[in-house]
Amino acid sequence: MPSTAIGVAVLGATGSIGASTLDLIARHPERYAAVALSAHRSVDALIALCMRHQPRHAVLSGVAEDAHVRKRFAESGFRGELRFGPQALEELARCEDVATVMCAIVGAAGLASTLAAARQGKRVLLANKEALVMAGPLLMHAVRAAGTVLLPIDSEHNAVFQCLPPGEAGTPSLRAVRRVLLTASGGPFRTLPVDRLEQVTPDEACAHPNWVMGRKISVDSATMMNKGLEVIEARWLFDIRAERIEVVIHPQSVVHSLVEYIDGSVLAQLSNPDMRVPIAHALAYPERIESGVAPLDLQRFGQLSFEPPDTRRFPCLQLAYGALDAGGTAPTLLNAANELAVEAFLAGRLRFTAISAVIEEVLGQIPAEAITDLEALIAADAHARRVARAAIARSEARAA
Ligand code: NAD
Ligand code: MG
Repeated sequence: MPSTAIGVAVLGATGSIGASTLDLIARHPERYAAVALSAHRSVDALIALCMRHQPRHAVLSGVAEDAHVRKRFAESGFRGELRFGPQALEELARCEDVATVMCAIVGAAGLASTLAAARQGKRVLLANKEALVMAGPLLMHAVRAAGTVLLPIDSEHNAVFQCLPPGEAGTPSLRAVRRVLLTASGGPFRTLPVDRLEQVTPDEACAHPNWVMGRKISVDSATMMNKGLEVIEARWLFDIRAERIEVVIHPQSVVHSLVEYIDGSVLAQLSNPDMRVPIAHALAYPERIESGVAPLDLQRFGQLSFEPPDTRRFPCLQLAYGALDAGGTAPTLLNAANELAVEAFLAGRLRFTAISAVIEEVLGQIPAEAITDLEALIAADAHARRVARAAIARSEARAA
């Protein structure tokens, strides 16, 4: 690694965002080095990535200390430090050779390491939207207190970030903004007859028309909970109230989001739907680097269309606005219930249309509380999972 290269830790390196991040790092070896990589349980995939990228640190967060696995890493030629268990993700945030942390773990499991990276003053590249949904105020406070910067990887938020004027401390200024418009593709079921939604399969839900993503976020896109989570994400990222965050369906996924100013100007960011665009932006910010993404050919698209979201078809979007309105731990409850419901749907144990019902039940049963610290969030998350598990079991029993 060149001595001037920026050390990047890629948490969730074996995932879809992880792969795009490593692609970019490999394109710019003089600028970036993948110094730390994590996977949950995919030993083979992590060994393959280590052989290719030669990191100094590797983490298997979902595996306990294992001599056999250690031996396999050594035999593959890995000469760095291999760590096991979830706490090792937080240890990476303390490594001096890590300057930037790509937080690309899926779900609540990514929160503690994201918070640790921010507290250590690392540059945080945030794909793990669930961390902001659960702990928005805590995470943004940690970023400010450490004097570091959090750059959004979610394409919509990255677009908004790019459309806002630069402010203090590397974060954009919101003065003079009237509205933020988050675009949504509408997912694979945008035009499916509503009465067919009950029967859709996990593979149909994961067949997104424009993006190739991990399975959890693909289902979130199909229910539009993804956009709900993104509304909450935008709330904390840009410190903007929910009334000023709107969602617009844009099936082509070319306009990634828009910012409207008080004078009526609307700025948008456009690109081909490829996550390497926002990742390249965040890696290089405030500079620009090549991403390998094909130039946008607007004539090929011919038309770009926009329509309002159908809230009857996509009840999850309203549930997310409701959780944001309820405040405190409500978004944490929403997120945890959603994670379990999506997992059950992917395992064939819950109908697609029951996902929103499970979340509604959890939100109805557990009152929201003020967020005091990370422990309070973890407790709320665990409580919501218990209630969701019971709701899913009842739904399974009814279906049997
Ligand atoms: P993915 O399923 O492809 O990859 C997830 C990664 O997290 C893998 O490396 C996996 O090993 C790791 N992981 C899974 N469970 C874990 C756990 N319990 N503890 C630690 N590590 C764990 O997911 P993805 O599509 O790359 O998405 C990652 C995050 O980025 C999600 O929060 C998603 O919402 C967000 N995001 C993804 C996209 C996209 O295009 N894929 C776009 C915007 C935002
Ligand atoms: Mg997004």
